[in-house]
Amino acid sequence: MTPPYPTLTLYIDGQFIDAGSRQRLDVRDPGTLDLVGTLPCATPQDLDAALSAAERAFTHWKQTSPMDRSAVLRKTAELLRERADVIAHGITRDNGKPLTEAKAEVLNSAEHVEWHAEECRRIYGRVVPARDPLVRQMVIREPVGVCAAFSPWNFPLGQAIKKVSAAIGAGCTLILKGPEESPSAIVEMARAFHDAGLPPGVFNVVFGHPAEISKHLIESPVVRQVSFTGSVPVGKQLAALAGQHMKRTCMELGGHSPLLVFDDADVDAAATLVARMKVRNAGQVCVSPSRLFVQAGVYDRFVKRFVDAIESVQVGHGLQPSSQMGPLIHDRRLQAVRELVDDATRAGARLLTGGTRLGDAGHFFSPTVIAEVPAHARIMSEEPFGPVASVVKFDGVEQALRMANSVPYGLASYAFTESHKTATQVMNGLEVGMVNINHSGMAHPELPFGGVKDSGIGSEGGTETFDGFLVTKMVTQI
Ligand code: NAD
Repeated sequence: MTPPYPTLTLYIDGQFIDAGSRQRLDVRDPGTLDLVGTLPCATPQDLDAALSAAERAFTHWKQTSPMDRSAVLRKTAELLRERADVIAHGITRDNGKPLTEAKAEVLNSAEHVEWHAEECRRIYGRVVPARDPLVRQMVIREPVGVCAAFSPWNFPLGQAIKKVSAAIGAGCTLILKGPEESPSAIVEMARAFHDAGLPPGVFNVVFGHPAEISKHLIESPVVRQVSFTGSVPVGKQLAALAGQHMKRTCMELGGHSPLLVFDDADVDAAATLVARMKVRNAGQVCVSPSRLFVQAGVYDRFVKRFVDAIESVQVGHGLQPSSQMGPLIHDRRLQAVRELVDDATRAGARLLTGGTRLGDAGHFFSPTVIAEVPAHARIMSEEPFGPVASVVKFDGVEQALRMANSVPYGLASYAFTESHKTATQVMNGLEVGMVNINHSGMAHPELPFGGVKDSGIGSEGGTETFDGFLVTKMVTQI
């Protein structure tokens, strides 16, 4: 039986707050457009209450032992696992992704919390040898303070959990603005932290009008750090605002991932894997391979296998067990993807499969492959953030690297080759934060996830995960 969709609330100072007389937003199932819930919008008074609660809570949370913080995080991971089925159903209802993907997201999120529970016990300082034997020089790392975090709808739990666990583990307190499109997992996450014994005010959740909330929170003198996952234009706006107020930032922004297939690659394995990666979350993934550069010798074979694999994908409502790909999140995304494909074909690209909306009951778009896409087509420089792959032929490594590096993005990348030399050239030559060679292996909690160039600042996960939430204090003593 499908579990009921959770009641949507704000969470401020340890209280779950209903809409009451607040403005509400409709939350719809992107696969049917049915109303699944209504979301309360935080008022300016709510935001001030969240800021005060986080400020008050910081005075004691920063002093807690990392062992105690670790215990709360561990308990939260346990609760997320216990509740995975309910949380996953909520994600499928308001985000649209297939239930198996939603369940994997929840379990992966529990692993992230557990990783932060472990790592927060290892936030070390250092002792620096002094010039005078009587002097002690120490470097201490302290929590930065109250953080404002903004998380997106594509992995409603997975993106938020990294920010929340890192802030809490580091000894910070935070206010999270969750995604209005897919809010249920955020409310469930707050419930898990609450039930795990997190003190009131350490973690607060608000929803509402993104621009108003981000301005209110970032301009507040209470907030010391800003963490955002979302698009490059919004990330730049928020980073600029944070800069005006001299606040630290961690930005996980968009990507336009290049994928390089060389003549010596296992072409069949690459085509199958890339097709699976391309339709995950309907392509609404910042690390989704979106520009496929294929060497001339294997171009035709790769394209044939890839198109076959893409055409075999079952598109349908996320709650249908047969569905391998769900709808896009909203009408704007559907329009944006359609316009990019139309622009590419007008520019001379060949449409090999897909390119159309499917039905009219939800935001479904067919998995799409376009080939011989000219460099000036918009899709070669704008992130499609949908189930569309552009394929382009290349001759040599240098040319492939030049094309791969030709965009302002620098997040993830992929290469398929059996040559150690080529793999090394690719690893060294790509201007990105993450390189996957002959497989895809990111988003594990033990690995840093982040980009360079316009794709962002800082990393989440790995031992780097706390860097954005800590400040350095030097102490010298005689
Ligand atoms: P959008 O730019 O309207 O919104 C992206 C996200 O930013 C949403 O979660 C939104 O609530 C938030 N946002 C927008 N304006 C904001 C503001 N002023 N203050 C705070 N938050 C704000 O785009 P969209 O159509 O919803 O999403 C598509 C684009 O977003 C894609 O092109 C993609 O690059 C980006 N995106 C990236 C990620 C990622 O994982 N890096 C996730 C989701 C969306």
